[in-house]
Amino acid sequence: MLNEEEKGYVSYTFPERLLKVKKLENFGRLNQEVVRSGVCTACCTCVSICPEKALVMEDEMPKLVGKCTACGICYRACPRTITSIKSLIGDYVAAFIGKSALDKVKGQDGGVVTSLLLYAMDNGLIDAAIVTQKSEKEPWKPVAKIVTSSEELLKSSGSVYSHSQTVEALVEAIDKGYRSIAFVGTPCNIEAVAKMQTQPFGILHLFMKAKILKVGLFCMDSFSHEGLKEFFEEEQGIPLSSIRKMGIAAGKFNIIYDNDKTNSWPVKELDRYRSTSCHYCRDLTSEQADISVGSVGSPEGYSTILVRTGVANELLEDAMENGYLTLQPLDREGLQKVLNLARLKKVQMYTEKRRHTYVLKYVPTTAGIPEPAERKGAIPLAEEKTKAKEGVIERALQKQLKVSEAQFVDGNTMLQLTLSNNSGKPINDVKVRIANLEDLFETNAWETSIETWYPFEELEFAYPRAKDDKEYLLTISDRQGTILSQKFSVKEIEGKKSEE
Ligand SMILES: Cc1cc2nc3c(=O)[nH]c(=O)nc-3n(C[C@H](O)[C@H](O)[C@H](O)COP(=O)(O)OP(=O)(O)OC[C@H]3O[C@@H](n4cnc5c(N)ncnc54)[C@H](O)[C@@H]3O)c2cc1C
Repeated sequence: MLNEEEKGYVSYTFPERLLKVKKLENFGRLNQEVVRSGVCTACCTCVSICPEKALVMEDEMPKLVGKCTACGICYRACPRTITSIKSLIGDYVAAFIGKSALDKVKGQDGGVVTSLLLYAMDNGLIDAAIVTQKSEKEPWKPVAKIVTSSEELLKSSGSVYSHSQTVEALVEAIDKGYRSIAFVGTPCNIEAVAKMQTQPFGILHLFMKAKILKVGLFCMDSFSHEGLKEFFEEEQGIPLSSIRKMGIAAGKFNIIYDNDKTNSWPVKELDRYRSTSCHYCRDLTSEQADISVGSVGSPEGYSTILVRTGVANELLEDAMENGYLTLQPLDREGLQKVLNLARLKKVQMYTEKRRHTYVLKYVPTTAGIPEPAERKGAIPLAEEKTKAKEGVIERALQKQLKVSEAQFVDGNTMLQLTLSNNSGKPINDVKVRIANLEDLFETNAWETSIETWYPFEELEFAYPRAKDDKEYLLTISDRQGTILSQKFSVKEIEGKKSEE
């Protein structure tokens, strides 16, 4: 049982000023996260409130012209930065670390989720729980289940790191007549249920069909099941069936084999198997849940718990008082760790448009203008348009378009160029033109139209090489004219390749 002092300590958010600010909140940080990434709203707040008057608005973007003293005022006032506890992890009324007090519970971390569900089930507070188990047929494939007994609950502990169709199981449970249901899900699952409860057309809200306790998991990312299979079985030669437990901690993806041996990889190595949807998610802690549980912020063998609603608070304290689990207040260091990770997830919005688009890719033909085999928005040019453009006007934007090193690929048959928009702004109605230069004339000129080129979006071009080619010309323009014009010499590209 928590004493009064401890209750006071954990029950309300810590004053934010007590939280250590790790990174310097100077204009450089604002510039990097907000301005250059293209999420600046051009509201001028930072410029207006800078006590040093060191910022000016230029080309609808703030620019540092004086000395930044790193007072943090611009960073904290910007409408696009995330600086308060609530905006990082949502509302909560109490925060704990906890672990199961039952030997039979073998949880992912502290076994808190399973113990809480067991308490609710044993005491008739819920008649079903929606959980996720590992498929018996396909190792590590998640299967969402309706469970109605303690035995089944015990089989459902542990994390499966792929999307589980939990909402489908919830709707099935309601159809079957269950009316008091605990629902365990990742932040995206929880958000779906919250919408079903609150939106005008949400089925749960409309017909008041069931009472649902939303138990949210913290989640930084999940992986496609096929991807995990490829990574472990094909790349590493480890059968998924030999893995007893998977876990992610401190940037490492860890596994425990059936024989208790362990292995780990930097999570980055599995990045390509991360579900694409996770790149857009900003909710680490299941902000819409009644109670959220995760591992970050707790020592090994414990879970971090954020209690968000009164009913969840009562249930948790009752479970503790009846010997299902033990609780301690979450301390400031623990909370700071949760906040740091939550911030990492929130700032994904700064790189949201950092897409990679393959704009042009086609099979080379021997003569004339080749036909595209696979490309997006490419327009073959009429022959009369193939004469080189003269009088390129240099524009400020030119410096912000990055042209990667040109290289020959596909057995030296294609010229590959990667372009990146580092201007911090979307550029509209862009035309990218590549042509082979024969003396003063362009041959095989190709132009590709791009409606919007987003900040940090990379465009990759593969252009078929002409016979006896010497030089290529790349021209990027928008409605106002040419932004960039650059020549690439074949000799130089080949020279660089041979140096490698
Ligand atoms: C995909 C995923 C990513 C996660 N990432 C993080 C993270 O980055 N940081 C962090 O602190 N915590 C993360 N967690 C949460 C953490 O792994 C534990 O689930 C949490 O700490 C609760 O531990 P426990 O021992 O109390 O739960 P347990 O008692 O072991 O119960 C876990 C519950 O989660 C359910 N479950 C398992 N897999 C899924 C799934 N795919 N979808 C929905 N429900 C599922 C189980 O059915 C069970 O009810 C993640 C969990 C998942 C599923």
